[in-house]
Amino acid sequence: MVFPSASECSSSQDAMALTYDYDLAIVGGGVVGATLAVALRDSGLKIVVIEAESQSQAIEKGQAYVLHLSSSRIFADLGIWDQIVPDVEYFRQVRLSDANCPHVVEFHPQDLQAPVLGHVATHQVLLKALLDSLAFCDAVDWMCPTRVTCTQTDTHGVTIHLDTLGQAETPQALRVRLVVGADGARSQIREQAGIRTRGWPYWQSCIVATIEPEKFHNHTAYERFWPSGPFAILPVSKAHCRIVWTAPHAEAQALLALDDEAFAQALSKRYGSDMGSLRVVGPRFTFPAKLQHATCYVRPRLALVGDAAHSCHPVGGQGMNLGIRDAATLAEILITAQAQGEDIGSLKVMKRYQRWRRRQNFLSLSFTDILNRTFSTGWLPIVWTRRFGLRVISGVRPLKVLVLKFMAGLTGQFPSLT
Ligand SMILES: Cc1cc2nc3c(=O)[nH]c(=O)nc-3n(C[C@H](O)[C@H](O)[C@H](O)COP(=O)(O)OP(=O)(O)OC[C@H]3O[C@@H](n4cnc5c(N)ncnc54)[C@H](O)[C@@H]3O)c2cc1C
Repeated sequence: MVFPSASECSSSQDAMALTYDYDLAIVGGGVVGATLAVALRDSGLKIVVIEAESQSQAIEKGQAYVLHLSSSRIFADLGIWDQIVPDVEYFRQVRLSDANCPHVVEFHPQDLQAPVLGHVATHQVLLKALLDSLAFCDAVDWMCPTRVTCTQTDTHGVTIHLDTLGQAETPQALRVRLVVGADGARSQIREQAGIRTRGWPYWQSCIVATIEPEKFHNHTAYERFWPSGPFAILPVSKAHCRIVWTAPHAEAQALLALDDEAFAQALSKRYGSDMGSLRVVGPRFTFPAKLQHATCYVRPRLALVGDAAHSCHPVGGQGMNLGIRDAATLAEILITAQAQGEDIGSLKVMKRYQRWRRRQNFLSLSFTDILNRTFSTGWLPIVWTRRFGLRVISGVRPLKVLVLKFMAGLTGQFPSLT
């Protein structure tokens, strides 16, 4: 069904065009889409989250994310941090180093006057807490497994066509005032809206694995830069750490193909012996690193959040945190617009979101790109410059605090949901 433009509408068509099943449809029930739904649950808006996977599939993903202080603050504002915090691990020291250079930059909580520097959370823990907080919420419906096949936008709203994946009781189409694309890096919502992206694939893939070190991690996160790419160890539970090992694609595939023992040996060579012997537990997987930024985040009756709007190199663990902040910001803008009686899907409201988030995300994406490129080279003038840079950061406290605040998402305008 194609909706006519406003000028072509007869009065009965007008009435139909102004009838909505929901105010807002969030396409994609990953962590970012679910965060937006939770942030809007008491807004008075009627919301549907449309997710292609079943709830158990969506929860059971192997990812783990660094949660910066900005994200834990947002989850606290949403009233769900107390449910999340018992199942996540914190780090109170970050050690940055450059290959075999003995100089290490150390960050401590007192640099931020905070009790910890950040947390590491698994996908399961985050998504489950978000879903639990929506369990008795009448304002939010969760439609899954249901895939959005296409959307048609007219002056008054958006018609969303659905592939209900064989569920007879699910409607084939919905009419809403606003669509939010939270459908990941290959966003169909973004593509259908004709929004292009800029960016590039990196020459590297990331190998992700869980290890059980012989010695306690002591709540320390390590990021060590090698010419082949950054290598991070993050505490994910009392006994386990998550490694994110970036290497050129062929080397990453060769590492993935090793058996656990050979992989643990390669890992010890790369990391050293600070934590004693390292045992690999659970599956390993790789994903290609890429930088991708949507040329715009909004259209009339459309906004993009999370990976649908931007993806970046995993160095510094920025990706998920930017998405959580997008969701909180969009929620604040929509709540204000709704309270002031504005049309939540109007381009004017949408542009407020784009103005707020796009520049901040651009800075973070550029930061990860420059960090990766500057450290993934053995060219001596760059090596000397970056090692000098690390010493300056270590020695000049205001600069160190600024770098840390930027990495922890504590710079720029912050959404307020309380
Ligand atoms: C294999 C892999 C491993 C990764 N590992 C890590 C890691 O260890 N640490 C880390 O920090 N980052 C990791 N990342 C990046 C991280 O997963 C993303 O930054 C993060 O998931 C983005 O969240 P999101 O909610 O925006 O998108 P996603 O998590 O991609 O969620 C999008 C959701 O939309 C749904 N969807 C898509 N299309 C449709 C449609 N047409 N209709 C309905 N629903 C739809 C999908 O099923 C999905 O649930 C990894 C990425 C990949 C691909």
